[in-house]
Amino acid sequence: MILSKAKKKISSGQRLNRDEILALYEDNDLLYLGESARRVKESKTGKKIFYTVNRHINLTNVCKANCPLCAYQCQSGDNRAFTLELDDVEKILQDAAHVKEIHIVSSLHPEKNFSYYVDAVKLVKKILPHVGINAFTPVEIVNFSKISGKSFSQVLRELIAAGVTSLAGGGAEILSDRVREIICPKKCSSSEWLEVMRTAHKLGLKTNASMMYGHIETIEERVDHLIKLRDLQDETDGFQAMMLFPFHPENTQLGKNFNLQRVGSWEDLKMLALSRLVLDNFNHFKAFWIMLTLPIAQLALSFGADDLDGTIGEEKIIHAAGAKSSTGISRETLEKIISECGYQPVERDSFYNSVMENI
Ligand code: SF4
Repeated sequence: MILSKAKKKISSGQRLNRDEILALYEDNDLLYLGESARRVKESKTGKKIFYTVNRHINLTNVCKANCPLCAYQCQSGDNRAFTLELDDVEKILQDAAHVKEIHIVSSLHPEKNFSYYVDAVKLVKKILPHVGINAFTPVEIVNFSKISGKSFSQVLRELIAAGVTSLAGGGAEILSDRVREIICPKKCSSSEWLEVMRTAHKLGLKTNASMMYGHIETIEERVDHLIKLRDLQDETDGFQAMMLFPFHPENTQLGKNFNLQRVGSWEDLKMLALSRLVLDNFNHFKAFWIMLTLPIAQLALSFGADDLDGTIGEEKIIHAAGAKSSTGISRETLEKIISECGYQPVERDSFYNSVMENI
């Protein structure tokens, strides 16, 4: 009964409620979900699949939060520890004149103050004034607020003035404080994560949203997470894109404590398609190939995704947790993967404008 009502709503483009979303998950009809999500994707962005030529910069892996979910963090003095100074950032940017977006996310360094991060953004802006700077998750913004004594709004205004053009969407994990208490107890709370996003959107800063599934959360908690994002998007319309990440348990305390294994590709595609159907007010869904691997990311283009993210250059956070994908990819490979699916590759800037149309 609930399931048939949910399917009728999907056919007529009506919004799904919590029980209907759960019924669709339980039904486990992957091809139905995929076909429905693909139709929604094509109604929003047609045959276009976006990608960007970008470069990731992780400023440091030294972190005071010690989250059980994390394989990236380490302590000062550890032989894996690194912290980039401005000279190092300058070197990374030397061969980045062709990129359209710089993506900066890092750990919560116990000694660096807010000005360190602001100066890094200013340097990127000075060297590459034309690029979009997608930087910092709400977890980092809450940390900046704590270490500087400034409000979220003041922190965000300073970062915007320095050159940040959009906020990264990570750190949401599952927006349930029960779950966060186990997987990342020292990270910001779910309400803080949402409040940073609300504040950013009110300041005109576009952001991404995310979900990390496949650890100790319940399916109900996943669904509630999606509904919280949908509600905030109704209020602000500030999210540009949604990303879904499977949890990579290798090298993590959480993985060891709960004997976790990475969920399979069925679950990856099912969660993507279901999320596309739930988040009817989001335009873009990323198939983040570095998390999913390229073969699954390519399949994801038929399950509701319309963005393969970017060339990346070098990535450290996800690979620390055992991701098997390469650390960077060429524009040609991304275009080939998209074209093989019968879609049209479109190189985008930070705001989903076609780069070709801007030339
Ligand atoms: S997940 Fe982020 S905040 Fe938590 S330990 Fe890792 S780097 Fe630090």
